[in-house]
Amino acid sequence: MSVRDNIKRVEDCIAESCARADRDPSEITLVAVSKQKTVAEILQAIDAGLKHLGENRVEEGMAKIPQVRDRGCADVAWHMVGHVQSRKAKQVTQYFDVVQSVDSLRLAKRLSRFAGESASVCRALLEINISGEASKYGLAGYNWYRDNAVKDALWREAREIAALPNIEITGLMTMAPYGVEEKAVRRVFADLRALRDGLSLDIQASLPDLSMGMTDDYPIAIEEGATIIRVGRAIFGERI
Ligand SMILES: *Cc1c(COP(=O)(O)O)cnc(C)c1O
Repeated sequence: MSVRDNIKRVEDCIAESCARADRDPSEITLVAVSKQKTVAEILQAIDAGLKHLGENRVEEGMAKIPQVRDRGCADVAWHMVGHVQSRKAKQVTQYFDVVQSVDSLRLAKRLSRFAGESASVCRALLEINISGEASKYGLAGYNWYRDNAVKDALWREAREIAALPNIEITGLMTMAPYGVEEKAVRRVFADLRALRDGLSLDIQASLPDLSMGMTDDYPIAIEEGATIIRVGRAIFGERI
């Protein structure tokens, strides 16, 4: 299957999920996650009409993004979806358009500072660790609706980050646990959505973006309210 055929299949599947959830497919932004894939493969995805690409490592993005821009593909938005070490915050603001993986106040402060130095605003999402797995990054959000300590800490960090001058938080991102039953995946996505609803009311921020869903679970994420899905393997094939 070509990248173009794969994208067509993903788009059909997005439309079916939207129909089940009574949503409009135009509400969903498809981010093609191109980690470990070549510039040639990325160009195929752009040729097929995609406008949003994602990488999970800063260096890999720094190597590939300029090559893609040099081929005349300047109107593509690049999303950082992986953990960013604070010392790489400057490069991230220089190369990426959206940082989906803001997982600490420290990183947010540095993103805001470097964006400010180049007279820009960093568009970002807060990554939340809803599943509670130790292997996952993100602000702690496991059981937030029952555990007041978790909720208080989250609210406090979100408030401080939202008050920074040169970073704009447009929503939340999470990753579902791997290899669990559908019910548990759905629960994680529903929890993130409820968290977004509560948080946006309390800190009086509009948080329209819900980034959730990857190759194995994006139809469920769409049913649970995702506005951004991050799809790698279903578009580019398995990674080796
Ligand atoms: C790799 C990755 C994806 C895409 O995963 P697939 O299973 O290939 O669709 C999405 N989000 C993040 C944060 C990733 O690292």
